[in-house]
Formats: sequence, structure tokens, C-alpha cells
Amino acid sequence: MDPRVVPVRTDFLGAAQAARLVARHGVVACLAGLADAIEADFARWPDFEKSARIAHHSPGGVIELMPVSDARDYAFKYVNGHPGNTVRGLPTVMAFGALADVTTGLPVFLADLTLATALRTAATSALAARRLARSGSHTMALIGAGSQAEFQALAFTGLLGIEHLRIFDIDPRAMRKLVDNLGHAGIAAQRIACCASSAQALQGADIVTTATAAKQRACVIADADLRPGTHVNAVGGDCPGKTELPAQLLRRARIFTEFTPQTRVEGEIQQLPVDAPVTELWQVIVGQAPGRTHDTEITLFDSVGFALEDYSALRWMHALARDTGLLQTLDLVPTLDDPRDLYRLVREAGQAERGFG
Ligand code: NAD
Repeated sequence: MDPRVVPVRTDFLGAAQAARLVARHGVVACLAGLADAIEADFARWPDFEKSARIAHHSPGGVIELMPVSDARDYAFKYVNGHPGNTVRGLPTVMAFGALADVTTGLPVFLADLTLATALRTAATSALAARRLARSGSHTMALIGAGSQAEFQALAFTGLLGIEHLRIFDIDPRAMRKLVDNLGHAGIAAQRIACCASSAQALQGADIVTTATAAKQRACVIADADLRPGTHVNAVGGDCPGKTELPAQLLRRARIFTEFTPQTRVEGEIQQLPVDAPVTELWQVIVGQAPGRTHDTEITLFDSVGFALEDYSALRWMHALARDTGLLQTLDLVPTLDDPRDLYRLVREAGQAERGFG
């Protein structure tokens, strides 16, 4: 090989190594690091080329591609949402993604993003709640105890000072799993109330997080159960025809979005007229729009998940994983002695094959 040829390598972090990275660094430290990274990237919102994600819908779910870029990095995520997967032994949400160098197009990092999706979603939820929840909020109701639930609970206890969790899931096994995992993460069972209904979970709650999965127009909480001043962190309504909240609640809330053109199609606000007023989170972060304005206001973060959060997560994880020994390298794309002689790969591979024959 010509000594000037630089071998092309892509860093790779698979699901098991990503889990080790998170375990080594600590879940709450990861959530804090990601919240800072996402906040910094939202603060330079105009730098990014943004678009609503491209969705392939089928009766059982959705598969989405989420691209975003700035002058230096291009990122994309592949993610699905199949609420019926649990009975097949598969997660509802699975994801992977890549980071590429805009100057050359070289894919520099490829990673499982399933865990990172839960982490970045919870980090963004906490980031929004810092500006939208009443100060002194200490109790959160959490409706839906599936894969996202632990990360939401740890983001709000770890980054927002939430003391008490009131949880409800239609499946008691999911609630038991959540209490058990939170115990492992250091949250004592006395701080968690397992409730018999969402109405019971909402009693005394300052913040309500909804993270359920059903491909339908659901109402997982009732408008009448929400007290003035509550902040609602709506995570599960993230697809056309898949919502969690009653329309009455949306009409009396101040609504905050990530990238509004995407949220209009996928979020809770698909239930409202297309010109219903909303504020984008980045506007609050840069001080262009107010967050919560008074203590009795109902604020709603209509989270659907935006590509920029995955861009932040990919860059943050790549930096964290360097020098840990957890990264593998892949020859995802070829190294060529002569960049215009792609056919040579086949000739050399043929020789290698004959050598084995
Ligand atoms: P999951 O399937 O692991 O868990 C969902 C849980 O909701 C299950 O335990 C189920 O029993 C429970 N549930 C369903 N209907 C309910 C109801 N009416 N009341 C109470 N509980 C109910 O799914 P997950 O990975 O935890 O994801 C939860 C939701 O969050 C999904 O809809 C997913 O698409 C969405 N999500 C959003 C983002 C985002 O950025 N906004 C990111 C990831 C996931």
C-alpha cells in the first residue's frame, strides 16, 4: 500500500459497549452531560440545517430517519416505534446512528442509540422542565413504566431535585420492574408510590410525565385531574394518530416544542389547529421567549424527539468513549490505494479468495 494512503476507519460503539460506557460514567452523570450538550447545541439553533424526520408508517408502527447537520458534522439516526413489539420480546424503540465529517463525507462514528435515545429524551425533558416547571417542584407523576421510565425518573430526581415519584402503568409488572431498577439506582422504594390509576398518581404532583405507548388517540390522564401550575412532560405522543393527552388540556396550557414543523405532525398539538401558538424550546434557552411566567400556569413540553438531540448525543458519546478501550474500529467504507480504482478491491479480494480455495 502507498505509505501516503491513510487507512479509513470508523469508530463503532455497539449496544453492549454503550451500556458499559453508561454504567462506568453513571446514568445521572450521563444525563447531566447530555443535558449540557443539548442545551449548548439548542443555543446555536440557527447553525443547523434542520428538517422534520422521514417516517415510514405501517399498521404496527413506524420507522424513521432523522438527519441534521452543521458546517462540521452530519448526523442521522434510524429509530423505530412499534408498541406491539413487547409481546414479540422486542423493545418498542430501537435505534442506531452515525456521525460523519461534512468536509469529506467520511463516516467517523457508528453507534447503537437505543440507550442513548432514552438518555437524550430524558435529558431534554429535564432541560425543558428546568425552565418550565414551578420552582420548588418536588413530586412527579410518571404515567407509563416502560423502557423510558427509569431514565425519566433519574433525570428528574438527579437534575431537578424531584423527591417523590407517583407511578402508574396498566401493567403492574412494569411498575414492579421500575421500582426494582430505581432501587438499584439508589432511589428508595419509600420515595415511590405505585398508584392504581393515573388520577391517583396525579394527586399532589407538580410535574406529570407521560411515557406510554399505544398507536391510538389515547387520554392517559384526565384534564380534570391536573391542578393549576403543573408542568406536563408529554413524551409518548410522537407519531401521527398517536397521542396521550385530552385536547381540553392542550387548550389551557402554554405549549413548548422542539422543531415545530415536526411536532405539528407528530406531537400532541396534531389535535389543535395548525396555527395554534407554540414556543420552541431553543427560544427559551437563548432568552428570546419566556418560559413559565406565573405559578398557576400549566406548561406543556410536547416532546417528540428531534434529530439535534441525537447529534448532541452522538458527539457527546463519541468524546466520552475515546480512550476508554470501549470503541472498536470498522472498515465500514474501503481504504483505496488509488481513490479512483474501486475495482481493484474486487481483484484483490478475488486473489484472497483463491488463496483460501
Ligand atoms: P414501552 O413499550 O417500553 O413502555 C410503555 C409503557 O406504557 C408500557 O409499560 C405500557 O404498559 C404502558 N401503558 C400503555 N398504555 C398505558 C396507559 N393508558 N396508562 C398507563 N400506562 C400505559 O415504551 P417506551 O420505550 O417506554 O416508550 C414510551 C413512549 O415514549 C413510546 O410511545 C415511544 O414512542 C415514546 N418515545 C418518545 C421519545 C421522545 O423523544 N419524545 C423518545 C423515546 C420514546
